[in-house]
Amino acid sequence: MMAEAIDKAVQVEKLCQKAQPCIACDLHLRRTNVVFGEGNPLSPLVIVGEGPGENEDKTGRPFVGRAGVLLDECLRECGMLRKHVYITNVVRCRAADPDETGRMKNRPPTSQESATCINLWLEPTLAVIQPLVILCLGAPSANAIIHKGFKMMQERGTFFPTKYGRYAIAGLHPAYILRQQGEAFDSARASLVADIETARKKVIEAKKEPPATLF
Ligand code: SF4
Repeated sequence: MMAEAIDKAVQVEKLCQKAQPCIACDLHLRRTNVVFGEGNPLSPLVIVGEGPGENEDKTGRPFVGRAGVLLDECLRECGMLRKHVYITNVVRCRAADPDETGRMKNRPPTSQESATCINLWLEPTLAVIQPLVILCLGAPSANAIIHKGFKMMQERGTFFPTKYGRYAIAGLHPAYILRQQGEAFDSARASLVADIETARKKVIEAKKEPPATLF
């Protein structure tokens, strides 16, 4: 068991090192750092966001800055820290283009960019980790992991089977929550805490189920 755990961690680290020079899609052209993921690769709970923003690109770490602080707070309210989960994204390089003033502005990754990064890096990482539950943050992550055309407002909080892990569920992205104000902010934040807690409880349930072959 111990050897298996060490092997998983080593394999994820090897994938991370291998991804550093990746130039498989055009997102490499403007990146500072490849943001591969962080946390515990042995965790049964994996959180998948959309992709790095400005702070993540600068630091090489996922979910830093205000969105990361909010995610950490919500995890803590469910009794967890980053070291208890593995956190990654659909794409590993920042998707951004210069605006008319030359300032880099985030944009959603294209379907081609997402598909390339999923095939090369996300899928192999999840194949090593074999999570029991994946929590997708934001519709682009849910579209990639759960199904295309995911409707966040209607389908949020529901578990779906997925080839990437035994169950997947989607919740609001912390960056979206930060754009809300007043009661809308409070309600969106509470929904993220609720979805993290639902995912945590599902891990406990899933651990009691017979093992499934995922890949
Ligand atoms: S986004 Fe992914 S596939 Fe594209 S260059 Fe970066 S690591 Fe490679």
